Amino acid sequence: MDFLGELIALGIDAIIVGVCTRLYLNCSWSINLIERAQRLGINPEIKNLSDEEKKYTICQGDVKAVGKSVKSSGSQDYSGVILRRSIMEHAIARNASGFWADQKNVIHVSHNVVPFVLKKGKFTIEILDPVSAELLDLDTVYNQFENSTLSVMDHIIGFFNGVRQRGIETTEELLKEGTPLTAIGEVMVNHSGYLQMSPPSAGYPYYLTTMPVSSLIRKLEEQQSTYRWLTLLFGSIGVVLGVIVVKKWWTLKELRLKEEEKKRRLEETRRERRRNARDGRELSDNELCVACRVNPKEIIILHCGHVCLCEDCSEGVKDTCPVCRSPIVSKAAAFI
Ligand SMILES: [Zn+2]
Ligand SMILES: [Zn+2]
Repeated sequence: MDFLGELIALGIDAIIVGVCTRLYLNCSWSINLIERAQRLGINPEIKNLSDEEKKYTICQGDVKAVGKSVKSSGSQDYSGVILRRSIMEHAIARNASGFWADQKNVIHVSHNVVPFVLKKGKFTIEILDPVSAELLDLDTVYNQFENSTLSVMDHIIGFFNGVRQRGIETTEELLKEGTPLTAIGEVMVNHSGYLQMSPPSAGYPYYLTTMPVSSLIRKLEEQQSTYRWLTLLFGSIGVVLGVIVVKKWWTLKELRLKEEEKKRRLEETRRERRRNARDGRELSDNELCVACRVNPKEIIILHCGHVCLCEDCSEGVKDTCPVCRSPIVSKAAAFI
């Protein structure tokens, strides 16, 4: 197909438009939910909320560990409640165009979480399952890059493999004690009467962020606007591609119609020629095609030189001459 490339591009474009639209709608949905969520701070009134209202509530308070806090192994100065340790490999890899470019691969990510609460005055709310939050703001407290020592052999192998290790980066991020945190999730009261917040059972996004609510909404609005522009951009590209595909398909269709018309006209002239060849009289036996015995002889077979077939029958005879059985090298129109 002449426009297969455009069709593939159109397909990829449609997928991108779909993803961007989905992300855009997701942002709008999250903003709407946050704006409608209950904002009671942390106080006993939360217990009086209806079940529906408890499903999405905003709580703000300072992080405090219940029991022992975790410490960063790289930097003992900080203690907190969530420690994320990631190990990343830095490498230089040859890309498809043959150039060497930096590449980062995450080798390992681990979380060390201790139970913690958000505290506001004398009121607290326990935060459950914090790692599953869609947004979890942590501070980087330790970062170390260790250069790889490569032997000559490693360099040679790396050159042929197209990947050469540069080093290993270890990062530790911590949710420090005392950090003011905005938590948005589902509120529950456990059997001992304590408040707890967990990921919303309704599938709403769970946020644990150091940003105030207004900043979180602004951030989501910025994302929403980016996705809207991307949707419009790729949508327009899709329309242009669509027009090109339709145009090419139309041109191809017209060309095909023209060819058919040309064929039809040739067929007509052939019929007319045959009518003229007869010139109103019956053709004698040796003037008729040896295969169909209806049309006049019109084709010469080479190399034997026999003029024995009409144009219609000659299309079906490919190997040997029907008169002398010698192999057919080529055929041509004969004018008698
Ligand atoms: Zn014939
Ligand atoms: Zn022959």
